[in-house]
Formats: sequence, C-alpha cells, structure tokens
Amino acid sequence: MTMEKKVTLSEAEIPRQWYNIQADMPNKLAPALHPGTMQPLKAEDLAPIFPMELIKQEVSQERWIDIPEEVVEKYRIWRPTPLVRAYGLEKALGTPAKIYYKNEGTSPAGSHKVNTAIPQAYYNKQAGITRLTTETGAGQWGSSISLAASFYDMECKVYMVKVSYHQKPYRRSFMKIFGADVIPSPSNLTEAGRSLLAKDPDSHGSLGVAISEAVEEAAGRADTNYALGSVLNHVILHQTVIGLEAKKQLEKLDAYPDVIVGACGGGSNFAGIAFPFLKDRFNGGKVRAVGVEPTACPTLTKGTFAYDYGDLGKLTPLTKMYTLGHNFMPSGIHAGGLRYHGESALVSQLYHDGFIEGRAYNQQEVFEAALLFARTEGLVPAPESAHAIQGAIVEALAAKEAGEARTILFCLSGHGHFDMGAYDRYFAGDLQDVPCGAQDLAASLESLPNV
Ligand SMILES: *Cc1c(COP(=O)(O)O)cnc(C)c1O
Repeated sequence: MTMEKKVTLSEAEIPRQWYNIQADMPNKLAPALHPGTMQPLKAEDLAPIFPMELIKQEVSQERWIDIPEEVVEKYRIWRPTPLVRAYGLEKALGTPAKIYYKNEGTSPAGSHKVNTAIPQAYYNKQAGITRLTTETGAGQWGSSISLAASFYDMECKVYMVKVSYHQKPYRRSFMKIFGADVIPSPSNLTEAGRSLLAKDPDSHGSLGVAISEAVEEAAGRADTNYALGSVLNHVILHQTVIGLEAKKQLEKLDAYPDVIVGACGGGSNFAGIAFPFLKDRFNGGKVRAVGVEPTACPTLTKGTFAYDYGDLGKLTPLTKMYTLGHNFMPSGIHAGGLRYHGESALVSQLYHDGFIEGRAYNQQEVFEAALLFARTEGLVPAPESAHAIQGAIVEALAAKEAGEARTILFCLSGHGHFDMGAYDRYFAGDLQDVPCGAQDLAASLESLPNV
C-alpha cells in the first residue's frame, strides 16, 4: 500500500492500441439505419462526411486497433495524464473509501475531447480532406477539433450552441487562436438552422440542431468532412486511452476499482474510462460502472431505448440508443456538454444489458460537489465533470454508511477555467434546479420514428 498522491506513467507507457468493446460485448449493437430508406446503413452512406478509416473503426469487431504513430506523437504533448488519489476529498467526507480520479483536464484544450480530435483530424487529412465542420456545446469539443485541425493545416468551422456562445465567450477566443470560424447555432447559414429559427427565433439552440447544421454543410461539399465529439463508436474507441492508462496506473498501486464513475453526455469520457475495465466484467469481474447525467437532461434514467436520429433535422443515421427524442430541448443548464438528447449506442446497449448503472443529479448539488472538490483537491472542475464528482461522493458516502472499503475511480473529464460565469451564477444564487418536465418529455418521445 502506497501513500503516493499521484501516479504518472512515462511516455513509453502511452497505449499503442485502442480497445474496441464491440469485440467483447455479449449482445452486439443493432445496426444503424439510413435516415432516408430506414435500411441498415452501408459504409458508402457515410463516405460523404467521414473518411474510410473512421468508418471502418465504426463497425470494426477487432478487439485492439493500432494507434497511428503520428497520433501518439501528438498524445505525447499531454499524455499520459495523471491518476490522482483524492486524499483531501476522502478526508472531508470521512469515508473509508479510496477515491482516485483520472485528470483529463491536463490536455491542451482542457478536456478529454482532444483524445479523439487528433485521430479524427489525422485520418481526414490522410484522406485528402481540407475542411472540417462540427458542432460544439460547451465549447470543449470545438476547442479540441480547432486545435487538431490546425495541427494538420485544415480549415475548421464550428457551429456553437447559442446558449454557450453567449455564456462562454473565451471558448470562442480559444477556437479563434487555432484559426476556426465560430458560428452561433441555430444560424441562418443552413436549411436546418433557418427552419428552427422560423419556428423559434429565440431558440437557445441545442447539440441536436448544431449537428444538423454541421452535417448539412459537410454533406454538401466534397472538400469538407464532419467530425463529431462524442456518441459514435470510433469516438469512444479513441477515448479508451483514458481507461487503459488508468488500469496501468492502478496496477502500479496494486489497486482495482469497485466502481467507476463518469459524467454522461454522449457517453465518451465515461465509456473511455469504463470500457477497458468492463472487459474484465465480461470475464467474471465485478466492477460497477455508473454514468451520471443532469436531471434536466436525463437520457439514461428517463429516456427510452429506441431507434432515433442523432439530430433535430433528421440528417444523421438512426441508432438504437437511450433517447429523450430528437426534438428534446433541454433547458439552458451550465453543463452544456451534457445537454444532448441521445446516448452512445455502445453505452446504451450495455446499460440495457445491465452492465452500466445510471444516476441523475440536480445543478445545485453538482455545484456543491464541485466546490468541495475544488477546496479539498485544489482543482476547479468543469460543470460536466462535477457530475462525476457528485457521483463519486455519493458512492463514498454509501461506503461510509456501510463501513466498507470501496475503491472508486472517476473521470475528471475537464477543468472549469472557462466556466467562471457558471460559478459566478452559482454564487449569486441564480442557478435553479431544472427538472425535466414530464410533459415536455412525453411530447418529444412522441416524435420517435416508427421503426
Ligand atoms: C463534452 C464533455 C463531457 C460530455 O461528453 P461525453 O461524450 O459524455 O464525455 C463531459 N465533460 C467534459 C469536460 C466535456 O467536455
């Protein structure tokens, strides 16, 4: 047993392969469907917006997929990320549990999203693409893909959800440093944006409509592809570097988690940290995996497991996932990265099959958890990551109640240095708990396609 505060790995220990859970999950994914024909999607259907290497990864059944050396070279800028023991938080909670967190906030854009931005930009560049379009909610993904596109001399256009565009001006500045063109969404540059604005001129926007705008533009131009920061199988594949590193780090401490906690937006950081451990669960291991979401956007805990579109404009393929309905408009909570109506197909299937648990928490308790973490561990978390902290605290208090030595691992998906506006509003008492209205939910679930 060691008393070390953190475990760092050497650059030589950066994983050289990503882990593909599709090889091991007991029930395979239902096929994605073409939005026009409702028939199972073919590789060529995705070719207008994604490079072939990423399409292959999307459907691959290979357990291990090599990380290109050029991508590892970029990962070296900040990987491996530290695994830290939250002694201060443990003490404040008076819990016998051991709490570890994997700090993805050390990346150059401040979150785990760069883990996939770099390989996505790399494979697009290899395929001869010169422009990328994307959406961004809170701005972390836009920052990550802007940075990655600039590494490979590509142009980048980011449709940023309007509520975040106004709440987080410095995220816009960050993207501009890397040369990106940032547009508030809904915009009047696309059919999808114009049609929403016609119905709701004051729309806050949502990831669902921003995705429609970015896909529409990419589909219409040969030099342009689309990049998505979460949800898709290839994104989750890239994020497994988090869990693979964490596993090596815990091994150095002779430790293994009883429970893994992550904030769940589209599911990528949670899956990234949890999937390499769930591999052991399929072989008889006992690790639990808990995905945490906001009560305002409770995809896992209140959603339906059904085929749905990934976007408001119905341009994306349909996947079978937990969804609140593609029409769902979450309120303008301060965890912009968790305001998505759907959930990754992989996380959804594994949740459905009982390998994953879901929890939903309110803004107030999540910000209280963020402050406790900041004041005990010295790091200011992103509001999204604070959901994972709250989930870890609940686990640690349950362990205390039960007098049980529980090992908890959570993903600190990003830092909150661009989220001071949200913290200020919390201090001003302006943050309301916004439950998800049963009526709104029923209405948006009615929009589910009949497949
Ligand atoms: C985007 C984001 C999330 C949510 O997205 P996932 O795909 O669910 O990981 C969580 N935390 C941070 C810091 C993010 O930037």
